[in-house]
Amino acid sequence: MKFCSTRNRDLRVTSAQAILRGLSEDGGLYTPAELPAFLPEEIEAMSRMDYRQVAETVLARFLPDYTQEELHTFVQEAYGSQFDHPDIAPVRRFRPGAWSLELWHGPTCAFKDFALQMLPRLLPAAAKKCGSDKTVAILVATSGDTGKAALEGFADVEGTRICVFYPHGGTSEMQRLQMVTQSGGNVNVFAVRGNFDDTQNGVKAIFTDAAAAAELDRKGVMLSSANSINWGRLAPQIAYYYWAYAQLLKQGAIRMGDKVNFSVPTGNFGDILAGYLAKKSGLPVDKLICASNENNVLTQFLNTGVYDRNRAFHLTASPSMDILISSNLERLLFMLCDGNDILVKNWMEQLKKHGKYDVGPNILKKLRDEGFLGFWCDDKLTAATIHDTWFGRGYLCDTHTGVAVNALQQYVALTGDKTPCVVVSTASPFKFAPAILPAMDLDFTGDDFQKLEAMEIVSGMPIPAPLKELKNKQPRFERVIEKEDMRREVLAWLAE
Ligand SMILES: *Cc1c(COP(=O)(O)O)cnc(C)c1O
Repeated sequence: MKFCSTRNRDLRVTSAQAILRGLSEDGGLYTPAELPAFLPEEIEAMSRMDYRQVAETVLARFLPDYTQEELHTFVQEAYGSQFDHPDIAPVRRFRPGAWSLELWHGPTCAFKDFALQMLPRLLPAAAKKCGSDKTVAILVATSGDTGKAALEGFADVEGTRICVFYPHGGTSEMQRLQMVTQSGGNVNVFAVRGNFDDTQNGVKAIFTDAAAAAELDRKGVMLSSANSINWGRLAPQIAYYYWAYAQLLKQGAIRMGDKVNFSVPTGNFGDILAGYLAKKSGLPVDKLICASNENNVLTQFLNTGVYDRNRAFHLTASPSMDILISSNLERLLFMLCDGNDILVKNWMEQLKKHGKYDVGPNILKKLRDEGFLGFWCDDKLTAATIHDTWFGRGYLCDTHTGVAVNALQQYVALTGDKTPCVVVSTASPFKFAPAILPAMDLDFTGDDFQKLEAMEIVSGMPIPAPLKELKNKQPRFERVIEKEDMRREVLAWLAE
């Protein structure tokens, strides 16, 4: 299986090259030129596997130039005791016909651990396969969770350095503390005055800056990305869609071949795209419900075919979805228009120039035919959903998951569809305690750690150890920079 760029379909690279480079030189995203196909009996067999075995089986097909031994070792290491649940990703029924796929039992309490515990293992191996002896410098733009998960994954990984940029004031306090207290000799963190899109654009600009690349090359450094534009981020995420389906089989909720819907809280479109790749490689998935917060650019797109980022940017209680430019949508468009790179390039140019493009009625119909639907809700509705799920069902979910639960409710109210649905639960409620306590009818005043303790008592769930430990950690990175200075700061740090 080879990969091409969404802006040049004739380009062919291996999975190792795609992972090492992150983003293609033409600004496109590496996308599989053809997809593997799982047989029903292979999927059925997954219901008798543990998480690590499912991940190894799925990754072997999406990362063909890694050996089975490599993948076996990486998976054992990545999904080990740093997860606080033996199932790694427990699948719990929280309502008749609806399950929560809990992806927040890892070291940073959010789903990005699934990708970012793997990528730091895939990347140095990719460098070796490609014959590169350069230091790989990872640049990350984060809306909160990617930054910490990447720092945690790459800290002190030999041959790598990592620099994270987050929007100043745009993350939860827990997310910020997690990042600025990060240990490791190869890590760096900056707050940037601006929003997530500004930081993401800043990082993309450094990537496509030929002069910067030449200067770094002389110093023996190459840049790569840990954002979800990197194939090494997406591939590990495909595995948990297979796992969720296999768990429903195991629980007797479905029979092999039955269709399942997924409701996915969406920001950069990476998570839901992984679900689509699972579907296209044989997993019986019907609807992919794209759940958004007030930054509902994707809801509008899926309803009208018009992607329009010319709108107010909202800071919400689900900050990891406060995104107006969903990078991975480019991969979906490329797949939907059968790899027509000219079209994709044209839309992306319009987005850059005018902040807007319209894919037209035919592609819009294809989006529907492929099962994509968009719903959104604001913070108030999210809180009401968390409230009802907690008091009505005894299940506590975080704000991002709350958006996806609400989107599912809207979808069911609209269609009456009784297909089993898995809500992809992306963060621990403890990560967003200040936003969630009021939804539990606790108007609690106190600092963030007192809020964690209150939530522990009322919910009956233990505070995740990595969050509890933050209280005693010293901040190491407290600089706030302008977005225009990102390039200079990176080059200065890499020259050290
Ligand atoms: C990153 C993130 C999302 C959005 O995922 P995308 O892959 O960017 O669509 C949703 N919820 C949480 C908690 C996240 O950290």
